[in-house]
Amino acid sequence: MDISELKDRLAKFARNRNWEGFHTPKNLAMAITVEAAELAEIFQWMTPEESLSIANDKKAFKATQEELADILIYSIRLAGVLNIDVEKAIDEKMEINSQKYPAGRK
Ligand SMILES: [Mg+2]
Repeated sequence: MDISELKDRLAKFARNRNWEGFHTPKNLAMAITVEAAELAEIFQWMTPEESLSIANDKKAFKATQEELADILIYSIRLAGVLNIDVEKAIDEKMEINSQKYPAGRK
């Protein structure tokens, strides 16, 4: 499934539940922040080593997968609501990042 199809799927999901009125850019941006905090909460008290081996903890790994999905869902929904071309936005930002942080520099 490509990003355009995901945008359509998420729009249909919201429309079928009468959630479109709640999916303002402000609310979606806040939802992304909340879900990012839920992701951070999983790792909050782990040592760096524990976080690196999270795949060995089935419950924590599943929770990580779910929170990452929440972040991506709201991000793609926000892109859909604002008609942002996600692939183009990433291409442009990666170009900015590559100039800001040249490879091989510390
Ligand atoms: Mg969540």
